[in-house]
Amino acid sequence: MSSLLLFLFLFLTPSSPLEFRYHNNREIQQYLVEINASNPDISHLYSIGPSVRGQELWVLALGLSPHRHTVGIPEFKYVANMHGNEVLGRVLLLQLIDDFVRGYRNNEGWSVKLLNSTRIHILPTMNPDGFDESDTDCLFSQGRANYNGVDLNRNFPDAFAGLRKQPQLEESRREAEVRAVIGWLRMESFVLSANLHGGALVASYPYDNSNGGSELVGGASVSPDDDVFNHLAKVYSHNHASMHSGEQCRDSRPFLEGVTNGYLWYPISGGMQDYNYVWAQCLELTLEVSCCKFPPQNQLPALWTENRKSLLAFIMQIHLGVKGRVFDGSDVPVQNAVVEVKGRSNMCPFRTDKHGEYYRLLLPGEYVFTVTYPGHKVLTETLNVPHGPDQYSAMKHDFMLRQIPATTVSPQANPTKANPTRANTPEAIPIKANSTEANLTPSCNYTLNLEAGASRSSWTGLCVSLGLVVVLLSLVS
Ligand SMILES: [Zn+2]
Repeated sequence: MSSLLLFLFLFLTPSSPLEFRYHNNREIQQYLVEINASNPDISHLYSIGPSVRGQELWVLALGLSPHRHTVGIPEFKYVANMHGNEVLGRVLLLQLIDDFVRGYRNNEGWSVKLLNSTRIHILPTMNPDGFDESDTDCLFSQGRANYNGVDLNRNFPDAFAGLRKQPQLEESRREAEVRAVIGWLRMESFVLSANLHGGALVASYPYDNSNGGSELVGGASVSPDDDVFNHLAKVYSHNHASMHSGEQCRDSRPFLEGVTNGYLWYPISGGMQDYNYVWAQCLELTLEVSCCKFPPQNQLPALWTENRKSLLAFIMQIHLGVKGRVFDGSDVPVQNAVVEVKGRSNMCPFRTDKHGEYYRLLLPGEYVFTVTYPGHKVLTETLNVPHGPDQYSAMKHDFMLRQIPATTVSPQANPTKANPTRANTPEAIPIKANSTEANLTPSCNYTLNLEAGASRSSWTGLCVSLGLVVVLLSLVS
């Protein structure tokens, strides 16, 4: 039944460029279904869950293996419309999808090379309920929050709140849209991301919050990857038609080169970019892409032109640095190996995922890596990292661990068995059990849970399949 409908869509789908206008939530859903149906080889449509009012949060994944991760191919994401009344991002991401697909079909190098080397996930609206409520004013906030009146960019777990001994919300009490994104981050090991907003013209990067500790430098809350974040932000602002000039919007302050540390601009607690970075080892930026939150429709073609090059250049930065796998003494790739770079003490140390992979965005230079894994000798290697984006690939480097002889291995450190406690409670992983740092370290929420991931995946897959059939039927009728 569903395959017949998909077949029909192949013939019904128009190939003309997407119109420059504000599509409502139903139209966005329809567009994504059509694009997916007519490009099944390079796209995969899935939902990460429903909004408070039950609207699916649809994601279109683009790439040569759109349905699943391929070892060596990094996972990228763009999220828009988290604030329901900041709407340009929705338009930009739909245009980006259209551009990618058309470019690929026309065998244009930029599209073919990016889709060959990267899996790109696009969530055009994270807050469809807010969009339904929003007015078209440039400055006002009607529709910013979700249906429950909650600002989604204040509702994520906050690494710094724990330091202030503020209680964290239980996950079940977080907003549906936030829970959906947290679940998404557990399903896929994202490497790089941006979250599109409006009301200013600036690329903002972590941290957004601080506890007043050593991270506070000159009014900024500086992360261990500050150099990389600053570079990423400048890639966006300098490829944008005007963001890099720091030209202020009427009601905003000027920004040097169109970039800012989030905290330096204004502190927020419970933001999404800090959550991505601290908990899920995904480097995320907050991109403010238009002075007006709801630009007049006739300005959309020009605004797309201003942002197109930046959106593409930013995706390419996923190929900065080093990537590879960590193998144990038996040449088997291992999950949860800690891969650290000297001088970058991340609150949640970066770990290998369920494929034994790590990705580390770094600017060109020499770096000392330390890899630790139970039952194995600590491995330290110095790597010379070139500039990867030009090659559409980070430098590849695998780490080969050597086992500690069995007589010296304690039974608790058996590396071949997953820790069942850890596997079942991904949010409660104590990272460091000794020293005063234990109190300062949040519980890290890794995306490494094989069992839970698999069951959620098949459940979501079933729901999405059913959902698609319903959508297709409604469109045909
Ligand atoms: Zn916003």
